[in-house]
Amino acid sequence: MAKTYDIAVFHGDGIGPEIMAPTLELLRGLGHGFAFHDCPAGAACYLDCGSDLPEASLATARAADAILLSALGDPKVRFPDGTEMTPQIDIRIALDLYAGVRPVRVVPGMRAPIQPPEGRTIDFVLIRESTEGLFHTQGRGRVEADFAEETLRITRPVTEAVCRFACDLARTRKADGHPGRVTSVDKANVFRAFAFWREIFDSVAAEYPDLTADHAYVDAMALWMVQRPWDWDVMVTENMFGDILSDLGAGLMGGLGMAPSADIGDRHAVFQPCHGSAPDIAGRGIANPFAMILSAGLMLDWLGRRHGDAALIRDGARVQAAVEACLAAGETTGDLGGTLDTRGAAAAVGRRL
Ligand code: NAD
Repeated sequence: MAKTYDIAVFHGDGIGPEIMAPTLELLRGLGHGFAFHDCPAGAACYLDCGSDLPEASLATARAADAILLSALGDPKVRFPDGTEMTPQIDIRIALDLYAGVRPVRVVPGMRAPIQPPEGRTIDFVLIRESTEGLFHTQGRGRVEADFAEETLRITRPVTEAVCRFACDLARTRKADGHPGRVTSVDKANVFRAFAFWREIFDSVAAEYPDLTADHAYVDAMALWMVQRPWDWDVMVTENMFGDILSDLGAGLMGGLGMAPSADIGDRHAVFQPCHGSAPDIAGRGIANPFAMILSAGLMLDWLGRRHGDAALIRDGARVQAAVEACLAAGETTGDLGGTLDTRGAAAAVGRRL
């Protein structure tokens, strides 16, 4: 009997439920055995029950084969200390999702500000360590009358794991025709913690003689991602550097509307669009569902590789191709220059599938 995959679903806030609903419809239409389990979380959930990430939702996520998460948060709903709730970050910590995967792929139809020269493509993946780095003291930083302080933490086991993840990915991509290059993005010229990171990167990369491994300082990388974004294959970097560079990567694709993401650990993985809950357009049915749908495509690929299910891997690639075909044909929502609403854009993907 075919396996049933349990998928924990965080519908989210704002446009979250609007882009999740048609994504689940597309997934159902693929005919795999998916059982979707709703997980309340986020700002509306906090107002409802006093918790932005109820234990029951986290338990459902922990028990699932994969987790689909739409955008969470509402700038008007805050904790008493003035900060917003960020359950998507709490889940990364709770489930040890150390590898943040941020693919950057420029394809025809995208309003990309930089076009590659003839014969080159912009197609790289940024791996952002997602559980420590400068986020180590998130919510616990010290604030005194005259100074404030946060701590950056780099540990050997997590750095080894995330560097190994990046090398494995570069190897998988090499089999698909990519150059097989992995670049550590750090600041090892200034900070001892990054010299430590780089030493760990080098020792992991030495286990992959079939790959080219090199380094870049993060400030130079920000320049090179703009000047020659076609030169990169897989990059691996610390949490805050990755946070910033992944938005630069989204900028290369013309904005957040086409930016999917995955947060992956040894046992669990969350798939979600890079954008937020867009309260300015929520409730109007015009949100772009493509980043959510592409994230579901990443989930299919990850599940397929994990369970040796070739049909899932194939459908992951089909979902990506269908979205890119819609983009090339101008079948998009307004933010990408088209005239379709959320349901119309998702239906266009469905027709191509
Ligand atoms: P945002 O990404 O929600 O919106 C920025 C701009 O992009 C807005 O003009 C919005 O209308 C537009 N936009 C975003 N997604 C879109 C889509 N799918 N289709 C069309 N337009 C889209 O960022 P923000 O306004 O800074 O944050 C809003 C809320 O989302 C905040 O509460 C924030 O904390 C939260 N947030 C959540 C996540 C997450 O869940 N991973 C990420 C970022 C922000």
